[in-house]
Amino acid sequence: MAETLESTKEDITVLVSLQEIENERDRLKALLDDIPGRLSLIDSRLEEAGARFKEREEAVSAKRKAYRDYETEIQNRQESIKKSDAKLMSIKNNKEYQAVLKEIDDLKRQCSELEDKMLELLFAVEKEEASLADAKKEFEQQVARIKQEKREAEEEREKIKKRLVEIEADHEQIKARVAPALLEAYMSVRKQIAGGKAVVEVKDCVCQGCFMNIPPQTYNELYRAGTLKYCPFCNRIIYHNGSNQV
Ligand SMILES: [Zn+2]
Repeated sequence: MAETLESTKEDITVLVSLQEIENERDRLKALLDDIPGRLSLIDSRLEEAGARFKEREEAVSAKRKAYRDYETEIQNRQESIKKSDAKLMSIKNNKEYQAVLKEIDDLKRQCSELEDKMLELLFAVEKEEASLADAKKEFEQQVARIKQEKREAEEEREKIKKRLVEIEADHEQIKARVAPALLEAYMSVRKQIAGGKAVVEVKDCVCQGCFMNIPPQTYNELYRAGTLKYCPFCNRIIYHNGSNQV
């Protein structure tokens, strides 16, 4: 025969309310505990998005810099060409003259190669600058979305904190109304059973905690006496809500 916990209908109602409010408190605390993790995830997404965009920007500015470097290289060669041209005037020796001419030719060829490279780079930079402008818009929208998510999480945190303060006050009041022996029994079962179902209803002879069929005698006692008992299978505190059956 299952052990009985002396109790009135009022006791059962209060105990069920206590469990409900404790479950709500636990649910909100779990949500609150998740928020710092959510916020840091949001921050790392912001960082990642920023780093990705910066990488693209840097790739374009590296190309721009390469373009300017080529420009300088061409200017240097043009200076050298000018000097060599000037040198040509004063050279009498044919061999030396040919050597300087070849030097000038080489420099001119190099300039033309550099100009080709510059042209290629210019096309690449223009193309990338256009797509960078699109990427920037996308990036800014993404940042705005992520920041909105962050604000929402922060608002949620404040709401939960406020609600928890209210719940704690209600909880104290309800707890004070539970008979000490019942409270002790409830707390002991709650410690052992995870999932916030220490007190469960028996419906159609089935324990709503473990879903086993309650022996008919226990069920009759629950039903007739309207008192609390322990489920013989899962040890949860069980009750019968008479009004459902009548
Ligand atoms: Zn059970």
